[in-house]
Amino acid sequence: MSKPAPRLRVLLVEDEESFIDALTIGLDREGFDVTVCADGQAAIDTFAPDRFDIVLLDLMLPRVSGLDVCRTIRNLSDVPIIVVSAKGEEVDTVLMLEIGADDYVTKPYRLRELVARMRAVLRRRERAAATKSSAVDVLEVGPVRLELDTRRCFVRGEEVKLRKKEFALLGQLLTNVGRVMTREVLIDRVWGSDYVGDTKTLDVHIKRLRSVVEVKPKDPKYISTVRGVGYRFEKADV
Ligand code: CA
Repeated sequence: MSKPAPRLRVLLVEDEESFIDALTIGLDREGFDVTVCADGQAAIDTFAPDRFDIVLLDLMLPRVSGLDVCRTIRNLSDVPIIVVSAKGEEVDTVLMLEIGADDYVTKPYRLRELVARMRAVLRRRERAAATKSSAVDVLEVGPVRLELDTRRCFVRGEEVKLRKKEFALLGQLLTNVGRVMTREVLIDRVWGSDYVGDTKTLDVHIKRLRSVVEVKPKDPKYISTVRGVGYRFEKADV
C-alpha cells in the first residue's frame, strides 16, 4: 500500500465570497489545505516562507493589489504563485510573469483546470529543485578528477588537456561509473542522436582517453571494453 500523498498548503488570496467558498471546498477535496486571506495586506501579513506550497492570488483585492502582493511574496520566497484575474480585466501578462508569477488563470475557470495548473506548476518546481540538488561540479573517480564547470581534467594530480568530445565522453563514463555504457548510448550522448559519422570515432576517443588515464594504455585498468556492448569505467582502483 502506498502512503497517501501529503496534503499541500495553499494560500488563497481572494475577496469574493462565492469563490472563497467554492475553492475552499473544492481544493480540500483535491488534497489541499486552504488558508484564506480576503485582502492584500492580510496576505502579506500571513505569508511566510515554507508556510505554503503554493499561492493562488486574485489580482483585484482590497487594500493592497495582487501585483504588490506578488512582488512582496516573491522577494521573500520562490513559492509557486498562480495569479487569478477576473474576466474582462485588462491583464498585463508579461508584467505578471516579470514580477514572478508562475502562471495565471482567468475567471470564471473550472476547478479541474485550476488544479491541473497548480499541479503542473508544482511539478515544474519539484523538477527544478531536483536538478539543482543533483548538479555535480566535480567528478572524481580513481585517478581522474573532472571539473565540469571549468572544463578541466586532472589525472593523478596533473592537468591534462582534453578536446570537447573527449571531455564529454569521459564525463559520461565517470557519471555512470561501474556501469556498462553501450556504444549507442555513448555516441548518442556525446555526438548527438543525429550523428551519422563512423562509429570508429568512439574507439578513437576511447583510445585517446586511455592514453591519458591509464598507466598502461594497452592493458587498461579503468576504461574497460565490454566486448560487443560498449565501455565501462571501473569503480575501484584495481
Ligand atoms: Ca477580486
